[in-house]
Amino acid sequence: MTRAPLFGCIEAGGTKFMLGVARDCDTILDTVRIPTSTPDVTLRDALAFFVNASNQWGSFDAFGIASFGPVDLDRLSSSWGRITDTPKAGWTGVDLVGPVGNAFDCPVGFDTDVNGAILAESLWGAAVGADIAVYVTVGTGIGGGALVEERLVHGARHPEMGHMLPRRHALDLEFPGICPYHGCCLEGLSSGPAIMARWRHSLSELPQDHPAHEIIAYYLAQMIVAQQAFLSPRRVVLGGGVMATPGLIERVRTQTSILGGGYFGSVDFDGLIVEPALGDRAGLLGALALAQRARR
Ligand code: ZN
Repeated sequence: MTRAPLFGCIEAGGTKFMLGVARDCDTILDTVRIPTSTPDVTLRDALAFFVNASNQWGSFDAFGIASFGPVDLDRLSSSWGRITDTPKAGWTGVDLVGPVGNAFDCPVGFDTDVNGAILAESLWGAAVGADIAVYVTVGTGIGGGALVEERLVHGARHPEMGHMLPRRHALDLEFPGICPYHGCCLEGLSSGPAIMARWRHSLSELPQDHPAHEIIAYYLAQMIVAQQAFLSPRRVVLGGGVMATPGLIERVRTQTSILGGGYFGSVDFDGLIVEPALGDRAGLLGALALAQRARR
């Protein structure tokens, strides 16, 4: 009898790396969380964890890495598997795939954290059965991943949904936004740090009748209308710390309905715009899904 496959899973985040060893989504053998410090230290600690795991459970069949971005996803590029021009100090150009593939001599699946998350949600979570689905995290930054008929969308780079340019809300015309590239792009207006910058509190700390709730919902709804226009998704999964604000997802549904003007047909907004089903496991399970794909 052949043994069940063994997968190494890496959710590479800007503040922490989640590492996991799994046979499948129901059989997670071990996980550990390490801080994102310098690349040398972080990758050394990650590899040490997996060497230990391999001593215990045998050789790995594949790895999956779901990473913060931007990253190079072009298989034909000499910098495939690397982080590209990140503002995170020391991490520009860092090779994530090479050290793992070399150490364990097995295939490595590599994608953005949000592409990993939509893949995992489509296999085991809130986007099962959706042929076109999007995952957006609204937190420290805003990023989106898209799955179109089982393919993760890459293209020239990968989608950067957080950097679309929304129409300004009438009560929010002064704030210049915090994106270093665009100022008032979606991320520059609606990420957690953008909310802190103009109201000095997180959205969940502000009272429910504070205009910030409607303003942020208005911007996020514009992103979903754009997705309806460009991709026609059956499901948009909204995760991240800002989305944990009570009532926000309902406000986003209402605004999306208003801004769409009825154009996109009879949309079930409760079914279109949903919370993640995998919660904070989406990142690590995304890495697992990428590993399973890499093995095939
Ligand atoms: Zn921007």
